[in-house]
Amino acid sequence: MDIIPECFLYSKKVFHLNHSYYMPRLLAIIIFICIISACQRVPDKLVSITGLTMGTSYSIKLITQQISIDEEILYSDIEQILTDINQSMSTYIPDSELSLLNQSKITDRQNLSKDLFTVIEHANNVSLMTNGAFDITVGPLVNLWGFGPEPFTQKIPDDSILQSVKAHIGYQKIIIDRASRQISKSDPDIYIDLSAIAKGFAVDKIARYLDKQNIQNYLVEIGGELITKGLNSHQQSWLIGIEQANVLERSVQRIVSLNNIAMATSGDYRNYFEKDGIRYSHTIDPATAAPIYHNLASVTVLDKSTMHADALATAFMVLGTDKAHTLANKLGIAVYTLSKTDTGFEEKYNDYFKPYLTD
Ligand code: ADP
Ligand code: MG
Repeated sequence: MDIIPECFLYSKKVFHLNHSYYMPRLLAIIIFICIISACQRVPDKLVSITGLTMGTSYSIKLITQQISIDEEILYSDIEQILTDINQSMSTYIPDSELSLLNQSKITDRQNLSKDLFTVIEHANNVSLMTNGAFDITVGPLVNLWGFGPEPFTQKIPDDSILQSVKAHIGYQKIIIDRASRQISKSDPDIYIDLSAIAKGFAVDKIARYLDKQNIQNYLVEIGGELITKGLNSHQQSWLIGIEQANVLERSVQRIVSLNNIAMATSGDYRNYFEKDGIRYSHTIDPATAAPIYHNLASVTVLDKSTMHADALATAFMVLGTDKAHTLANKLGIAVYTLSKTDTGFEEKYNDYFKPYLTD
């Protein structure tokens, strides 16, 4: 994901005047009104906040006319939101709410915080709509393949260990009770990994915070998952680059123009290891207990919700190009994929995605 430096667009306004007599006077009035409003117009303030979270970076850009806005308060509030989400959902923090849930072998109902419940419940819905391609109980497999909190080993796990771990995978093993905001595990050994959805949730939560501050124009991005609202500093939609799915260099494949919509991308070209010419990436197919093995290199999804786009991008990576497009069309989801070919990459996007492309 790249935020493209904005260029100016001029909109042409055409005035039709029937009486040339009035022209000079009218022009003088228009110029006068323009000068007055230019004097009265509070200049836009561009605020940029960046930092590190969830093993990656975050970037927030907002444009506001509130000159009184306190950037220090914004920054500390946003950092607090991110700290709270991590303390709830990270498997990298040993005493996070999720880590404690994973460590407990209790199969009775357990109370969860509102945020953790929301994310687990939504993950479960995405599992249902993707026929299990998205599955937050893949955590032990993610760890076994070396993509979890333990140091990166770059080793192919033993098949017997994979099979024994696979017995404890399955989103159906999490029983969700919405009314009481409780969950129970039907298998005490299940282990939940929210890495494919928590960033999207955090982006949405920061966006809601900015809404409450009455900020109308912003871009919130964590590790490539992002949401946009309103316009950028040049009164344009936000221009975002979709990266080429290239391991060696970072370059832009396509530019999309976004306004009041979220975007998430998943790919096999950043977090992976290679052995004997085979790429093992951090996206695990719950059906095979192994990293995905097909020619789909990256998926970009657009949706109102960053959390939903984030989860679906991972699910589509698991499904592969054809099944991903079939499901996206059925769900009415805008999707863009890059698939490996002998000569490079083949792009494919559906009709829901088309209106956002700039070229
Ligand atoms: P990124 O972290 O690059 O944005 P994703 O959003 O696709 O990528 O999340 C990938 C992470 O999700 C993996 O590192 C792993 O922790 C977890 N994961 C892997 N496979 C699945 C899956 N099938 N369903 C849910 N989560 C997964
Ligand atoms: Mg994801």
